[in-house]
Amino acid sequence: MSPPALYFHHPSSLEHDPRAHIPGHPDTPERIYAIEGALQERDWLGFERRLAPAAHESELELIHTPALVASIRDLCLAGGGAIDGDTAVGESSYRAARHAAGAACEMTRALVAGQARLGFCGVRPSGHHAEPDRAMGFCLFNNVAIAAQLAISEFGLARVFVLDWDVHHGNGTAEAFRSRADVLFASIHQSGIYPGTGFLGDAGTGEGEGYTINLPVPDGSDEQLWLSLLEHVVLPAAAAFQPELVLISAGFDAHRSDPLAGCRLESSSFAQMACHVRDLAAELHAPVGAVLEGGYEPQATAESLCMTLAALDGEGEALSSAPEPILTSRAASYVGHYWPL
Ligand SMILES: [Zn+2]
Repeated sequence: MSPPALYFHHPSSLEHDPRAHIPGHPDTPERIYAIEGALQERDWLGFERRLAPAAHESELELIHTPALVASIRDLCLAGGGAIDGDTAVGESSYRAARHAAGAACEMTRALVAGQARLGFCGVRPSGHHAEPDRAMGFCLFNNVAIAAQLAISEFGLARVFVLDWDVHHGNGTAEAFRSRADVLFASIHQSGIYPGTGFLGDAGTGEGEGYTINLPVPDGSDEQLWLSLLEHVVLPAAAAFQPELVLISAGFDAHRSDPLAGCRLESSSFAQMACHVRDLAAELHAPVGAVLEGGYEPQATAESLCMTLAALDGEGEALSSAPEPILTSRAASYVGHYWPL
């Protein structure tokens, strides 16, 4: 019998609500209600639900400075407040953020130990904008980066691949591993929107040069471009990197219905991306875990997520497409300096 697919969750994810300090904030607990409602209707797609433990401060400090961890903890203890124009915490947010990071850690332990065939963390707040010393962009602690570092520090993994398909650049994850060759970070994101980083020409620094792959796409990009960049640039590089673990920063805000960005993916586009990643990971015998990032139209997020989980767990076929000629060629000629594409 194959080990279970695991879905990590925690009730504290529902208590973090930036609207208390920033009225009209799009990151609401309703996102989780929509996701879990849709999964429940589908019998959780066969995933076994597990309660996420709280990450220890030492786990948060795998990526973050003790000063950042203390400042978030103290602000929450004091009743909360806004950190910047986009990011706010309440009394419960530190607890929620610890369980969100703890979900990613526990999922990673299960995957690396072979105790899960697949994992997903349906938790808030999200993490990919959080830099080692700075919370920003709705994110407090960088769940995916902490999980990648845990796999390296605790299990001795030599190579972890992080794919970020949130519509916003995963600047926090990129910064955490900017000068490292043991984490390959690839992000497809819309250019010209928050946080304003992630240019094609930023490939990392020092020993990490080539291990950051930034693929910005224009407003209005649809699945033809996203899938082309994934199939013809990201995955050949990832295959050459030979990761022992694949982590996905799974945001669903590149969906055409999303209010925060202008990309035009369908729910089925996420399933296609998931099929391609699944097949690559299977070839490499690397387990796959995904962590929720953005996605601000709750129904579109829920539908896309259900299709992603089903695809990661084997449903559907990865369809090969011809490379989109303009941006894919430009990206391939740049990334091709570092990887055989
Ligand atoms: Zn996003």
